[in-house]
Amino acid sequence: MRRAIYPGRFQPFHLGHLSVVKWSLERVDELIILIGSAQESHTLSNPFTAGERVEMIRKAMNNEGIPGDRYYLIPIPDILMNNVWAYHVRMYVPSFQTVVARNPLVLRLFREAGNDILVPPSFQREKYNSTLIRKYIITGEEWSDLVPNEVYTFIKSIKGDERLREITGTDKR
Ligand code: NAP
Repeated sequence: MRRAIYPGRFQPFHLGHLSVVKWSLERVDELIILIGSAQESHTLSNPFTAGERVEMIRKAMNNEGIPGDRYYLIPIPDILMNNVWAYHVRMYVPSFQTVVARNPLVLRLFREAGNDILVPPSFQREKYNSTLIRKYIITGEEWSDLVPNEVYTFIKSIKGDERLREITGTDKR
Protein backbone atom coordinates (compact mmCIF):
# COMPACT_ATOMS: atom_id res chain seq x y z
CA MET A 1 0.00 0.00 0.00
CA ARG A 2 1.39 3.36 -1.02
CA ARG A 3 0.59 6.37 1.14
CA ALA A 4 1.58 9.98 0.47
CA ILE A 5 1.25 13.29 2.30
CA TYR A 6 0.11 16.55 0.67
CA PRO A 7 0.86 19.62 2.84
CA GLY A 8 -0.92 22.92 2.27
CA ARG A 9 -2.61 25.81 3.99
CA PHE A 10 -5.73 25.59 1.78
CA GLN A 11 -6.75 29.21 2.50
CA PRO A 12 -9.12 28.46 0.79
CA PHE A 13 -9.14 24.98 -0.84
CA HIS A 14 -9.52 25.67 -4.59
CA LEU A 15 -9.84 23.78 -7.88
CA GLY A 16 -6.03 23.61 -8.28
CA HIS A 17 -5.74 21.88 -4.89
CA LEU A 18 -8.56 19.52 -5.88
CA SER A 19 -6.73 18.66 -9.12
CA VAL A 20 -3.56 17.90 -7.13
CA VAL A 21 -5.57 15.60 -4.85
CA LYS A 22 -7.08 13.71 -7.82
CA TRP A 23 -3.70 13.53 -9.57
CA SER A 24 -2.15 12.11 -6.37
CA LEU A 25 -4.89 9.53 -5.85
CA GLU A 26 -4.15 8.16 -9.34
CA ARG A 27 -0.63 7.42 -8.07
CA VAL A 28 -1.05 6.36 -4.45
CA ASP A 29 -3.61 4.35 -2.49
CA GLU A 30 -4.06 6.85 0.35
CA LEU A 31 -3.40 10.55 0.68
CA ILE A 32 -2.80 12.41 3.93
CA ILE A 33 -3.92 16.00 3.40
CA LEU A 34 -1.91 17.98 5.94
CA ILE A 35 -3.71 21.18 6.88
CA GLY A 36 -0.72 23.33 7.77
CA SER A 37 -0.54 26.47 9.91
CA ALA A 38 -3.40 24.99 11.91
CA GLN A 39 -2.96 27.61 14.65
CA GLU A 40 -3.68 30.43 12.21
CA SER A 41 -7.05 32.07 11.44
CA HIS A 42 -8.66 35.48 11.05
CA THR A 43 -5.71 37.02 9.21
CA LEU A 44 -5.32 38.24 5.66
CA SER A 45 -3.14 35.26 4.66
CA ASN A 46 -4.94 32.73 6.83
CA PRO A 47 -8.59 33.71 7.21
CA PHE A 48 -10.06 30.26 7.93
CA THR A 49 -9.61 28.10 11.01
CA ALA A 50 -8.21 24.58 10.72
CA GLY A 51 -11.67 23.21 11.53
CA GLU A 52 -13.27 25.28 8.77
CA ARG A 53 -10.64 24.03 6.32
CA VAL A 54 -11.34 20.43 7.35
CA GLU A 55 -15.01 21.01 6.68
CA MET A 56 -14.62 22.71 3.31
CA ILE A 57 -12.22 20.04 2.02
CA ARG A 58 -14.42 17.16 3.18
CA LYS A 59 -17.47 18.67 1.50
CA ALA A 60 -15.54 19.03 -1.75
CA MET A 61 -14.21 15.45 -1.53
CA ASN A 62 -17.69 14.04 -0.83
CA ASN A 63 -19.12 15.89 -3.79
CA GLU A 64 -16.39 14.48 -6.02
CA GLY A 65 -17.27 10.98 -4.80
CA ILE A 66 -13.80 10.46 -3.33
CA PRO A 67 -14.27 7.74 -0.68
CA GLY A 68 -13.36 8.64 2.90
CA ASP A 69 -11.00 5.66 3.16
CA ARG A 70 -8.73 7.11 0.46
CA TYR A 71 -7.67 10.19 2.45
CA TYR A 72 -6.99 11.67 5.88
CA LEU A 73 -7.43 15.33 6.84
CA ILE A 74 -4.96 16.23 9.59
CA PRO A 75 -4.40 19.77 10.89
CA ILE A 76 -0.90 20.48 12.23
CA PRO A 77 0.33 23.72 13.84
CA ASP A 78 3.58 25.26 12.59
CA ILE A 79 6.74 25.13 14.65
CA LEU A 80 9.62 27.62 14.81
CA MET A 81 12.29 25.11 13.70
CA ASN A 82 12.16 24.28 9.99
CA ASN A 83 14.99 21.80 10.41
CA VAL A 84 12.86 19.40 12.45
CA TRP A 85 9.46 20.12 10.87
CA ALA A 86 9.37 16.91 8.78
CA TYR A 87 9.87 14.90 12.00
CA HIS A 88 7.28 16.98 13.86
CA VAL A 89 4.80 16.15 11.06
CA ARG A 90 5.53 12.42 11.38
CA MET A 91 4.36 12.49 14.98
CA TYR A 92 0.82 13.54 13.94
CA VAL A 93 0.09 11.37 10.91
CA PRO A 94 0.01 7.74 9.77
CA SER A 95 3.30 6.53 8.27
CA PHE A 96 4.11 7.67 4.75
CA GLN A 97 7.04 7.57 2.37
CA THR A 98 6.03 9.95 -0.39
CA VAL A 99 5.43 13.71 -0.30
CA VAL A 100 3.31 15.57 -2.87
CA ALA A 101 4.35 19.22 -3.09
CA ARG A 102 5.53 22.10 -5.24
CA ASN A 103 6.36 24.50 -2.38
CA PRO A 104 10.20 24.66 -2.46
CA LEU A 105 10.69 24.80 1.33
CA VAL A 106 8.37 21.82 1.88
CA LEU A 107 10.22 19.85 -0.84
CA ARG A 108 13.60 20.69 0.64
CA LEU A 109 12.67 19.73 4.21
CA PHE A 110 11.11 16.38 3.29
CA ARG A 111 13.92 15.55 0.86
CA GLU A 112 16.46 16.13 3.63
CA ALA A 113 14.37 13.86 5.88
CA GLY A 114 14.73 11.06 3.30
CA ASN A 115 11.23 11.06 1.75
CA ASP A 116 10.35 10.37 -1.90
CA ILE A 117 8.91 13.35 -3.74
CA LEU A 118 6.07 13.59 -6.25
CA VAL A 119 5.82 17.03 -7.89
CA PRO A 120 2.38 17.57 -9.43
CA PRO A 121 2.01 19.69 -12.56
CA SER A 122 0.75 23.25 -12.25
CA PHE A 123 -3.02 23.19 -12.68
CA GLN A 124 -3.44 26.74 -14.03
CA ARG A 125 -1.63 28.01 -10.98
CA GLU A 126 -1.88 31.62 -12.15
CA LYS A 127 -5.70 31.24 -12.01
CA TYR A 128 -6.21 28.70 -9.21
CA ASN A 129 -4.24 30.45 -6.53
CA SER A 130 -5.37 31.10 -2.93
CA THR A 131 -3.72 34.53 -2.70
CA LEU A 132 -5.65 35.69 -5.76
CA ILE A 133 -8.91 34.21 -4.48
CA ARG A 134 -8.52 36.00 -1.13
CA LYS A 135 -7.85 39.22 -3.07
CA TYR A 136 -11.02 38.73 -5.16
CA ILE A 137 -13.05 38.08 -2.01
CA ILE A 138 -11.80 41.38 -0.58
CA THR A 139 -12.31 43.44 -3.73
CA GLY A 140 -15.67 41.86 -4.53
CA GLU A 141 -14.60 40.30 -7.84
CA GLU A 142 -16.12 36.99 -8.93
CA TRP A 143 -14.39 33.98 -7.35
CA SER A 144 -17.12 31.31 -7.31
CA ASP A 145 -15.70 29.53 -10.37
CA LEU A 146 -12.24 29.16 -8.76
CA VAL A 147 -13.26 26.87 -5.90
CA PRO A 148 -15.42 23.73 -5.68
CA ASN A 149 -19.13 24.69 -5.39
CA GLU A 150 -19.32 23.26 -1.86
CA VAL A 151 -16.36 25.39 -0.76
CA TYR A 152 -18.06 28.52 -2.11
CA THR A 153 -21.34 27.64 -0.38
CA PHE A 154 -19.55 26.79 2.86
CA ILE A 155 -17.53 30.03 2.96
CA LYS A 156 -20.69 32.02 2.29
CA SER A 157 -22.56 30.08 5.00
CA ILE A 158 -19.98 30.97 7.67
CA LYS A 159 -19.75 34.54 6.31
CA GLY A 160 -16.07 33.92 5.58
CA ASP A 161 -16.12 36.56 2.84
CA GLU A 162 -17.41 39.18 5.29
CA ARG A 163 -14.74 38.12 7.80
CA LEU A 164 -11.96 38.62 5.29
CA ARG A 165 -13.24 42.05 4.26
CA GLU A 166 -13.68 43.06 7.88
CA ILE A 167 -10.18 42.08 9.00
CA THR A 168 -8.63 43.95 6.11
CA GLY A 169 -10.72 46.95 6.99
CA THR A 170 -12.17 47.36 3.52
CA ASP A 171 -15.65 48.66 2.80
CA LYS A 172 -15.40 47.94 -0.94
CA ARG A 173 -18.63 45.97 -0.89
P1 NAP B 1 -0.84 26.18 -0.32
O1 NAP B 1 -0.48 27.52 -0.84
O2 NAP B 1 -2.24 25.89 0.10
O3 NAP B 1 -0.36 25.11 -1.42
C1 NAP B 1 -0.35 23.74 -1.15
C2 NAP B 1 0.36 23.02 -2.27
O4 NAP B 1 -0.49 23.01 -3.44
C3 NAP B 1 1.69 23.66 -2.68
O5 NAP B 1 2.62 22.64 -2.99
C4 NAP B 1 1.28 24.45 -3.91
O6 NAP B 1 2.33 24.70 -4.80
C5 NAP B 1 0.26 23.53 -4.54
N1 NAP B 1 -0.63 24.24 -5.46
C6 NAP B 1 -1.41 25.32 -5.19
N2 NAP B 1 -2.11 25.68 -6.28
C7 NAP B 1 -1.79 24.80 -7.25
C8 NAP B 1 -2.18 24.64 -8.62
N3 NAP B 1 -3.09 25.44 -9.20
N4 NAP B 1 -1.63 23.62 -9.34
C9 NAP B 1 -0.72 22.79 -8.76
N5 NAP B 1 -0.31 22.90 -7.48
C10 NAP B 1 -0.84 23.89 -6.73
O7 NAP B 1 0.02 25.82 0.97
P2 NAP B 1 1.56 26.01 1.37
O8 NAP B 1 1.81 27.39 1.86
O9 NAP B 1 2.47 25.43 0.34
O10 NAP B 1 1.52 25.05 2.66
C11 NAP B 1 2.67 24.60 3.29
C12 NAP B 1 2.34 24.42 4.78
O11 NAP B 1 3.47 23.79 5.41
C13 NAP B 1 2.11 25.76 5.50
O12 NAP B 1 1.08 25.62 6.44
C14 NAP B 1 3.43 26.00 6.19
O13 NAP B 1 3.36 26.82 7.34
C15 NAP B 1 3.79 24.56 6.55
N6 NAP B 1 5.24 24.48 6.89
C16 NAP B 1 5.55 24.61 8.20
C17 NAP B 1 6.88 24.61 8.56
C18 NAP B 1 7.18 24.79 10.03
O14 NAP B 1 6.24 24.72 10.83
N7 NAP B 1 8.42 25.05 10.41
C19 NAP B 1 7.89 24.46 7.62
C20 NAP B 1 7.52 24.32 6.28
C21 NAP B 1 6.16 24.34 5.91
P3 NAP B 1 2.98 26.18 -4.94
O15 NAP B 1 4.00 26.28 -3.86
O16 NAP B 1 3.52 26.17 -6.33
O17 NAP B 1 1.84 27.15 -4.75
